[in-house]
Amino acid sequence: MAEIMEGQRSSAAEMRLVGGRLCLDFVNTVDGRKDDSSPLGDKLEDYSDLVAWSRHSGIVTAAEAARLIKESKQKLATAHTVLRRAVALREALHRIFKAAMMERVPRSLDLETVNDELLKARKNERLISTNEGFRWEWISGETALDRMLWPVAQSAAEFLSAGDFSRLRECGGEQCGWLFEDTSRNRSRQWCHMQDCGNLAKVRRFRTRLQSSTN
Ligand SMILES: [Zn+2]
Repeated sequence: MAEIMEGQRSSAAEMRLVGGRLCLDFVNTVDGRKDDSSPLGDKLEDYSDLVAWSRHSGIVTAAEAARLIKESKQKLATAHTVLRRAVALREALHRIFKAAMMERVPRSLDLETVNDELLKARKNERLISTNEGFRWEWISGETALDRMLWPVAQSAAEFLSAGDFSRLRECGGEQCGWLFEDTSRNRSRQWCHMQDCGNLAKVRRFRTRLQSSTN
């Protein structure tokens, strides 16, 4: 399986998963965001990027990822539609999360996008009985090209319906815009990752101080 995935190097498979929730990591599949929140470099440029990210975040196995890639090559139009849906879902979620952070009402069109995906996800969910009791399981997803969108939509629905956004943060890095849940004890996390944005900010502050002291 590894051979099939090889040559499919994708920045989506190398990104830091710092959101603390699947739906937040999904919203972070951009290199950054401009001041108007629009993406600055997209990690999901191709259907294979979506599969690579899904494998990276653990929602599909290596074998499932290989099967999806194979299937997508036979169903190019469907794969393209799924990619388009993924990006639409991501942007709708981003706007909804930002609205939630600012205690604003989300756009109904964005909520509709999430609900459409949620409906598709729920159609593929079944309650099954195991030795340890009952649990939900995804069915018929072996070759469903949109199967990675199901757990993402579910994760977003769980987060949104729980209704606690007090720990939802946007990284303070310049043109970063990544979202994460601040689980630090004193709720003081400012950066998506210290090495990416935190250090950059530190360097910038240091330079400014240096400049003002030499001027
Ligand atoms: Zn950042």
